[in-house]
Amino acid sequence: MTSRTEELTAELGDALLQVRPALFDPDGRVGGLIDWALRDIGFRTALFRFVDCLPSLDSADEVSDHLRAYFDRDEVVLPASLRTALRLATGRWTAQVAAVALRSNVRALARQFIAAETPAQLPRALRRLHRHGVSTTIDLLGERTVSEAEAVAHLAEYRALLEHAVAVGGGDISLSVKVSALDSQLDVVDAQRCVARLAERLRPLLEEAAQVDALIYLDMEDHQLKELVLDLFQVLMEIPGAPRLGCVLQAYLRESDADLSRVVAIARRYPGRVSVRLVKGAYWDTEVALARQRGWPVPVFEDKAETDAAFAHLVTRLLGEAAVLKPAIASHNAASVAHALAVAESLALTPEQYEFQLLYGMGEGMQKALVARGNRVRVYVPVGALLPGMAYLVRRLLENTANTSFLRRTFVPDLSEPSPRTAGATARSSGEDGFRNEPPLDFSRVAVRSDFSRAIDQVRSRLGEVVTPVVGDGDRATDRIQPSVNPAHPDQVVAMVHQAGPDEVDAAIARANEVQPAWQATPVQERAAYLRRAAAYLRDHRLTAAAWLIFEAAKGWREADADVCEAIDFLEYYAAEMARLDRPRRYASPPGEDNTGEYLGRGVAVAIAPWNFPLAILTGMSTAALVAGNPVVVKPASNTPRVGRLLVEAFRAAGLPAGVLQFLPGSGGAVGDALVRHSGVHTIAFTGSREVGLGIHAAAAQTPAGQRHVKRVICEMGGKNAIIVDRDADLDEAVAAIRQSAFGYQGQKCSACSRVIAVGAVHEPLVERLAQAIESLAVGDPVNPGNRIGPLIDSAAQAKVERYLAIGQSEGRLRAQGRKPDEGYYVAPALFTDIAPHHRLAQEEIFGPVLAVLHARDIEEAATIALDTDYALTGGLFSRHPGHVAYVRERFRVGNLYINRGITGAIVGRQPFGGFALSGIGSQAGGADYLLQFLLPRTICENTLRRGFVPEMLE
Ligand code: NAP
Repeated sequence: MTSRTEELTAELGDALLQVRPALFDPDGRVGGLIDWALRDIGFRTALFRFVDCLPSLDSADEVSDHLRAYFDRDEVVLPASLRTALRLATGRWTAQVAAVALRSNVRALARQFIAAETPAQLPRALRRLHRHGVSTTIDLLGERTVSEAEAVAHLAEYRALLEHAVAVGGGDISLSVKVSALDSQLDVVDAQRCVARLAERLRPLLEEAAQVDALIYLDMEDHQLKELVLDLFQVLMEIPGAPRLGCVLQAYLRESDADLSRVVAIARRYPGRVSVRLVKGAYWDTEVALARQRGWPVPVFEDKAETDAAFAHLVTRLLGEAAVLKPAIASHNAASVAHALAVAESLALTPEQYEFQLLYGMGEGMQKALVARGNRVRVYVPVGALLPGMAYLVRRLLENTANTSFLRRTFVPDLSEPSPRTAGATARSSGEDGFRNEPPLDFSRVAVRSDFSRAIDQVRSRLGEVVTPVVGDGDRATDRIQPSVNPAHPDQVVAMVHQAGPDEVDAAIARANEVQPAWQATPVQERAAYLRRAAAYLRDHRLTAAAWLIFEAAKGWREADADVCEAIDFLEYYAAEMARLDRPRRYASPPGEDNTGEYLGRGVAVAIAPWNFPLAILTGMSTAALVAGNPVVVKPASNTPRVGRLLVEAFRAAGLPAGVLQFLPGSGGAVGDALVRHSGVHTIAFTGSREVGLGIHAAAAQTPAGQRHVKRVICEMGGKNAIIVDRDADLDEAVAAIRQSAFGYQGQKCSACSRVIAVGAVHEPLVERLAQAIESLAVGDPVNPGNRIGPLIDSAAQAKVERYLAIGQSEGRLRAQGRKPDEGYYVAPALFTDIAPHHRLAQEEIFGPVLAVLHARDIEEAATIALDTDYALTGGLFSRHPGHVAYVRERFRVGNLYINRGITGAIVGRQPFGGFALSGIGSQAGGADYLLQFLLPRTICENTLRRGFVPEMLE
């Protein structure tokens, strides 16, 4: 077979060389640019990024401005023609000409890969392809679906495409459907319900397809969606009267071999009806980058040769199952296609039993050669407007120009450079002294979802447990018992909580001071080991811990899991950080002088925590104090004592000596205030509201008689965080990120986005899409993973946010509002426009699902508005203009600035977190400076000169 494959490869290779794609014709206007791009990585990056943002540029001025910003840079080597264009583009009139020319070039480029801009243009393209003896499958390009209105529109477009294809007649009609386009609430965390919903949505399309015997492929997108798409495929197969269906396997996924077995098992029940397209996979970079960012195993083969080998193996298996499957081999690589032909020959398959699939505009030579041999060829035909089609276009360009691309190697054989793929692939996700972030749960796995569900049931059966303070050697019940309740069902008691009071405060502080010397003398490695053991305990109990967060703090599944991961990260990170700070420090020491430094614990600390990250922040503040040598007294928020108690459980399991970590649930006014004012306290770590934080700061500044130290206050407070959306922003990305940043955990994160500043003409389209996205949000009990928004923490928070809704209506315009259930502390998510910078909606922290949109003339005004608050916590920018990115980086001074991504979800060790101005003191949690706040530096200088004798000088 190998020699037959080689023969066929040579045959196909010759046929390929007879048709050089326009992309690789250096004499053509597009080919010339690509040729240059292939030779210079700086130019290639600039070109593709520019092409990506070009459709969003409205005027010639904007085009020429972006041209200069992308290409007029030292690292970009320009071809002469473009240099001239760039020079021309600086003049007003000539800019117009250059912009028109550029657009026309890029449209020409796009037309090579996009067959039709509208369904109405499709018939022409189809007829042309049919004339060449190939059939087609139609693909709809489109923006990311962020609202139900968009999902409905996409479904209608699919139906229109089918109708047009039917009108053309001839050939074998086929549509390739992307399920992500059909559901704005699609999330693998709720896979089962999503599958049911998608099956229902697809029903009319499937019925129409069945009537005309069309083949419907479910396209494969990213790895996260793969299981869901296969589940949907299985469900659809079982519908009586379903049309012919196809699914897709990606050879670069390690799991595809097993997936093929699953598909074969399904197909055996419906012989001859299942088409399977085998591709290599188009999202390699994204899959690798996302897996590394999340600390998950990389799902794809990291070596191109492994993917090729997997492809060959899967081809052999697929063709071997031709009795029950309709295999479709999708590759432009002559060797891969030749292998398939050789296998088919050896199995004596007829050409009707399988087919080849090629992308529109990417394999005309191959297409001709295969048709000439009598093989079946189907072309994948993208249809869509250029604007949303750009993402597709750039992906195709990247694919074609990658070093590993077969086409590139065929038509541009003399190029070689180190593969950026393998270079980038070795980057580590984090790396402070071996510290690794705790990977979040991968909810795309059914086993993870069912374990999580079971943990929720377990915790449900434990609701109502008693929580007591921990003082000195153990639990101390009191006679003041209060329930902690579930915000989604306020009559459901999560825990019965014994409230600490002044006696417990005094006893705890006295005990903490007693154990302080011994704890301070405990070697750092031992202290760190307690933290690591506590981390291990939380890791082992992460599912039940997350379930407690769902019931008591009303976090959604992902948010609850992230809170637990962050708590584990703090434990591991501070353990590693303290080991680093503990290394002997020797300062400059001239002969006769020995200068050394060390850190001591400051003394007894208290940690006063908020309810919104009831495990993570509580853990971070208290264990930073602990590992630095300070006994700590922990006061959880009144709303979340049961979650706070998890920390006690973790440290008990870790064997921490009694008295080193004590736990005082109780009210801020009683327990919190008494702790702050206590003369036996040295450090106060507080996270919470500005009002309480400033009060604590003032109270701690008092030095009552007998107190022989100045207290240190570490104070993390609120924010009024803005995301600037520039004129040229990618709205698909911006809307999805704003939706998550503003409404994730109901907007109750200090980092949440509560202002959007829209620059220029982006305002209307942005507001329109945001409004629809908000109206589509699923609101309800977070126990159900399909809900994106849960209740607020309590009735006071609900009443406060409702007051702001009224204020917003008097200051601006309520542009959109979502829904809400009747029971529980819910507020329907809301979007306000026409808000001015001085309005209360633009100035005050609301801490709920309320988003205000402001309008700025240009990027300078946007930055000025962004900075015009009392706070400086987080901020964000969506822009594709390198100059604007640089400007905002420089001007927008907040603790955490995020560019072209959401502004919440800081990760320990990667994005140290915390703000300044009235947002906080400034040393960021989860960063290298944080522990210093719990330490006293001490310097020792010894004179080593005795009677003229300097020992060091003898060495
Ligand atoms: P909060 O009302 O200020 O409460 C925070 C903690 O302080 C709670 O444990 C509270 O106890 C206690 N407390 C209240 N009054 C006190 C007093 N007089 N003396 C001592 N302690 C007192 O804040 P929250 O509502 O829990 O949390 C939301 C706020 O935290 C928002 O403003 C948010 O922006 C901010 N936050 C900031 C960050 C950050 O890193 N910058 C992170 C998370 C949250 P009770 O629960 O009994 O009232």
